[in-house]
Amino acid sequence: MPLFDFQCIQCGTVREVLLSGEQPDPTTCTSCGAAVHRLLSAPASLKRMDGFFHKDNPSDAQLASKGLAKYVNRGDGTYEKASGSGPSIMSRDQLPI
Ligand SMILES: [Zn+2]
Repeated sequence: MPLFDFQCIQCGTVREVLLSGEQPDPTTCTSCGAAVHRLLSAPASLKRMDGFFHKDNPSDAQLASKGLAKYVNRGDGTYEKASGSGPSIMSRDQLPI
């Protein structure tokens, strides 16, 4: 069953709800009774992976431990490596394929 986040438009409370195909979306906040809306979020399977993608931005060390590299936009069309492995500088016009 898919897992969705719903946020209250009044108090901001976020609630995770498991929904089967026929179940309607919740419409009211369980805390204050105001309307809720569905948040766009990562698929539930990603959220559960080591808690890695859940809510927080992973640290550079966490990214490196997963074999991922992080690049920071320097604002001049180039990207400088902040962590992980790969070229130290990449250009927007010369991205590796
Ligand atoms: Zn509320």
